[in-house]
Amino acid sequence: MKKNEENYDFAIFLKANADDQKLDEDFKRLHKKYFANYDCSKCRKCCKKLHATFKENEIEKAAQKINLNKEEFIKRYLKQTLDKTYIIKRTPYPFLKNNMCILEEDKPKDCKEYPFTNKKERIFSLYATMDNTLICPVVNNIIEELKEIYHFKVR
Ligand code: SF4
Repeated sequence: MKKNEENYDFAIFLKANADDQKLDEDFKRLHKKYFANYDCSKCRKCCKKLHATFKENEIEKAAQKINLNKEEFIKRYLKQTLDKTYIIKRTPYPFLKNNMCILEEDKPKDCKEYPFTNKKERIFSLYATMDNTLICPVVNNIIEELKEIYHFKVR
């Protein structure tokens, strides 16, 4: 069975068997454990492969950081999805220089919080989390350890 099929099966298994609060605690503990030993500056796969999302109120600050006005920033770097969310036009993320984000603290909240594995209600985001195993090595480690904790048997 391919790894991503196995991971989707695990998501179904967790939805059927896991207690949502215990699952959040497990995710949080493993998030802390694996990120403590991982240097994201040597990776940046999320920046290179995902289309970062900007909320309306995050655009102004990001634009100011690189000396643009909001309109110019949108024109150069963003596009709107059907639900009117602003996302980066193309990958890799254009603000990555020497593997660091030049927007620093003014980067969008979604970038700061990725891969969201320490957030509440993980039970409702399991498929997205499984997709993130293909991008983020830390998420992959978390999911592999969760399979052991929950005695998940591969079919
Ligand atoms: S993909 Fe994961 S490990 Fe890599 S930089 Fe992003 S958050 Fe860090």
